[in-house]
Amino acid sequence: MKDIKNYTLEELTEALKDKGFPKFSGQQTFNWLYKKKVEAFTQMSDISRECREFLKKNFYVSGLKLLKKEVSCDGTEKFLFGLDDKNTIESVLIPKKNRNTLCISTQVGCKFKCAFCASGRDGLIRNLLASEVVGQYLGVSKLITPRKITNIVFMGIGEPLDNFSNILKTIEILIESKGIYFTKKRICISTCGLIPQINKLSDLNLGVMLSVSLHAANDETRSRLMPINKKYSLKDLMKAARDFSRGRRHAVTFEYALIEGLNSSLRDAAELAKLLRGMPFKVNLIPLNCSFAGFSPPKPEEANAFKDELIRRHIFCTLRQPRGQDIDAACGQLRAKHKHKND
Ligand code: SAH
Repeated sequence: MKDIKNYTLEELTEALKDKGFPKFSGQQTFNWLYKKKVEAFTQMSDISRECREFLKKNFYVSGLKLLKKEVSCDGTEKFLFGLDDKNTIESVLIPKKNRNTLCISTQVGCKFKCAFCASGRDGLIRNLLASEVVGQYLGVSKLITPRKITNIVFMGIGEPLDNFSNILKTIEILIESKGIYFTKKRICISTCGLIPQINKLSDLNLGVMLSVSLHAANDETRSRLMPINKKYSLKDLMKAARDFSRGRRHAVTFEYALIEGLNSSLRDAAELAKLLRGMPFKVNLIPLNCSFAGFSPPKPEEANAFKDELIRRHIFCTLRQPRGQDIDAACGQLRAKHKHKND
């Protein structure tokens, strides 16, 4: 038996065509599964009986198990899901004005070990399947009905570009017009800076947005915070980002977590402005969410001064407030707590 949610429309159409079923039966199945949200093959009434029987014998429809839901006093909602192999992942919904942004996980754990991030503490356990990534979108959509998810960011646990083929497949399923038909521009992939994969994404020209976790404007500080910088230097990373943004407006956003005494002085702001000068890039500043490993966020005045300095130097930036702190909503925190409690 195969999980039908791991199939793109093209793959499903091919699998059905191989068995002699018409081309449109793949489209019909997608329509039932993702538009009408009907999961029992027997109820897919416009599909021929033989085809329904074939689907029932060969495929199953997976779903994630909600283990826990927490709502922060600022409206952020956090969902802890259980997978078939008993691993857990989390998704976070961030409501803001008329937007509902869903932050989804792409791996169980993470191997990149950024110094300030909870996701990598226990290393990488495994990649998520496309069905498990799409499953987070479907699971949360159902749980928050009638509200709708308007934006998807691959900023939960894991490094999306380290799970490249499954993430491509996920995007293909999400944007398929016969299914979920999610707007490409409202999907953002976030990376710690895997240059070969950023280049592949540029070549594929999928129409999705890219966010790069920068966190420092020089190699010394960045390597200290993000070990991946020892492999892919800032200079090369900036080139990859420039190549990605060519011909696209504001297609690259840089994430910059402000950390007291490390990257949040006015001198750091000046260095960052110099690094990004003349590029159509946007910077998302966020005071470090929670304190651990000896790192803490700067005082609000310092964070504001950093932002003002960037603006004075003509860098387009926003200063976000950390959301959901009371429910451990930063990457991997709820999962880490759940895991350590159950160890
Ligand atoms: N691996 C990807 C996506 C997951 S992390 C990446 O590195 O981009 C999503 C974002 O949250 C990244 O920008 C990451 O650096 C940031 N992040 C992780 N822990 C954080 C913390 N404690 N405070 C603020 N931002 C954090």
